[in-house]
Amino acid sequence: MKAAVLTAWENIEIQDVPVPEIGEEECLIKVRYAGICGTDLHIYGGHHPTAKTPVILGHEFVGTIERINTKSPVNLKIGDRVVVEPLISCSSCGACREGNWHVCQNLKLLGIHTGGGFAEYLRAPVGKVIKVNDRLTDRIAAMAEPFAVGFHVNQRAGVKNGDRVLVIGAGPIGLIVGLVAREGGAAQIAFSEINPIRIDQVRSFGFTDIINPIENDAAAEAALLTEGEGFDVVIEVSGSQAGLLLATQACRIRGTVVFVGFPGSIPQFNVMQGIFKELTMVGSRVYTYSHFQKAVRLLESVEAAGHYDLEKLISGVHSLEELAQSIQTMKEGTVPGKILIEF
Ligand SMILES: [Zn+2]
Ligand SMILES: [Zn+2]
Repeated sequence: MKAAVLTAWENIEIQDVPVPEIGEEECLIKVRYAGICGTDLHIYGGHHPTAKTPVILGHEFVGTIERINTKSPVNLKIGDRVVVEPLISCSSCGACREGNWHVCQNLKLLGIHTGGGFAEYLRAPVGKVIKVNDRLTDRIAAMAEPFAVGFHVNQRAGVKNGDRVLVIGAGPIGLIVGLVAREGGAAQIAFSEINPIRIDQVRSFGFTDIINPIENDAAAEAALLTEGEGFDVVIEVSGSQAGLLLATQACRIRGTVVFVGFPGSIPQFNVMQGIFKELTMVGSRVYTYSHFQKAVRLLESVEAAGHYDLEKLISGVHSLEELAQSIQTMKEGTVPGKILIEF
């Protein structure tokens, strides 16, 4: 089969490799679309703490079941369209034993640590496979994983009906976090973003409260948007120093700040604001299986309602041969959304 192998940092080769053999309780999936994630950009550049080469990346994908080997009473058969929750947990660390598989001390991901979706086929554990509804197109289903991230962030933030939410950083994940917050009943969703391409993208989804820290004093704008109260929830997706300082400033007294974006180094942080405002500060990492499942259902209900076009989250659909170039394009920030690899 054809696969894009990351043979060394910043080097992808299209190779002919054997189709994976499946073991017990596994299935072989024929990939239809695989999305490029921010994490893939990190790995490609050699900045991921645990990824190693050679590897076939791609942890966001949709495909069909080509072969299945299971004795479990799963509702899956050959030909089913599926997505995969890609976490691989050790099952023996403290977090796993408490049932918190997604923050496993030895967490690995399919498509980061084992063969992923930038190949014609991949193998996946049957227990991680989720069937998608016919209403969901393949392209939208390929975004199940980033929606699972967005769903989990909102759960960690405890976003409630009527809440005012600020999302700092409006790349694909930031925008999806905001969309999920809106579906969850947040009354006001504002974004802080400096990239004009991303600002246009956010506006095209009907969001109007946008802070551009290059043009204005972001903290003053945040106060203005909330009558001086601050936001109930601030979700920091940019990982930037300025974003982290804005997060505590823009959050209301006793509000919640959620950390999602990876900072490049250990950043400065306004602890005094955390203390004086009694902020709740939480981290958010990947998603639970249940949140992944619910994210798929959320996508299905958004598609059914048809209030907005999820296709706009996709900025390009390219071939496997164009993977390296597509990663470069996403790195440059010249497109607002996801790039999908089509098979
Ligand atoms: Zn991802
Ligand atoms: Zn574990």
